[in-house]
Amino acid sequence: MQILDGKLVAQARRRELQAQIAEFKKQVGRAPGLAVLIVGENPASQVYVRNKVKSCADVGIESWHLERPATLTQAELHAEIDRLNADPKVDGILVQLPLPKTLDETAALERIDPRKDPDGLTSGNLGLLFAGRRRVAPCTPWGVMKILEHYGVETAGRRAVVVGRSNIVGKPMAQLLLEANATVTIAHSRTRDLRAELRRAEIAVIAAGQPRFVGGEDFSPDAVVIDVGIHRLGGEDGKAKLCGDVRFEGLKVRAATPVPGGVGPMTIQMLLENTLVLARLRGH
Ligand code: NDP
Repeated sequence: MQILDGKLVAQARRRELQAQIAEFKKQVGRAPGLAVLIVGENPASQVYVRNKVKSCADVGIESWHLERPATLTQAELHAEIDRLNADPKVDGILVQLPLPKTLDETAALERIDPRKDPDGLTSGNLGLLFAGRRRVAPCTPWGVMKILEHYGVETAGRRAVVVGRSNIVGKPMAQLLLEANATVTIAHSRTRDLRAELRRAEIAVIAAGQPRFVGGEDFSPDAVVIDVGIHRLGGEDGKAKLCGDVRFEGLKVRAATPVPGGVGPMTIQMLLENTLVLARLRGH
């Protein structure tokens, strides 16, 4: 079974991106800029945000890490976003999710100018994606497409099954595979016979958010299996261990992504790439 190594793909793309950003700086006279807004003190979010800021520095993107207290009101949050929408140095605005329960995430996301939305999650950018006029695609499914491309996995005419239908992963994943001419099925919690659907898949993307819920017997031996799930489970030694939606051990398929080291490292890389796309489109 071939291992589809997302970490390796992300590293290769990172070197390429560094060169592209150096070129952008020469032409435009400034670095692309990403503002990351975090509200409250969710420890996992703080780790993600630190990683994003560090990765920006690594490729030459200027970034601003804005921390606000959990007591921030919706109006104050919108005022922050409006200020960033108007700031000419800012090409991308990222509101780290989840927001505290007191705040409306959808309203906050929709407040971001779609031309400054590197996550591709505003209805403006999702609308363009589904209309076939993509500006930027959501980072995780876009990263999956780049893994398939890197390893030369043919998509045209292939039967692809996506498990999950969220706006962040499942739906845009299905649309991107469709754009790449796959024949796409979307499965979800109401799908009657998931195994029967999966066994027909030549490409299976699993994004159900259920730890280790599918395994070898669910796939055809010729399938390419992409595991989007990330779960932190307590190991026997008491240390947390990362696992995906797929039981990786005992998997006998054509190729598969591991967890960790599969889709995860690509998500942040695509955020950086999308920021450059938006900076180029703004063009000044
Ligand atoms: P959601 O919980 O929003 O969506 C899960 C989807 O899976 C839903 O559409 C749900 O169906 C479907 N589902 C749940 N259980 C089953 C089941 N037993 N059989 C079939 N379908 C099922 O999750 P997300 O899309 O946000 O994320 C999915 C996973 O990807 C999570 O593990 C998350 O941690 C991970 N993730 C990883 C990222 C990365 O960088 N690698 C980035 C983003 C997410 P229904 O709609 O019917 O409820």
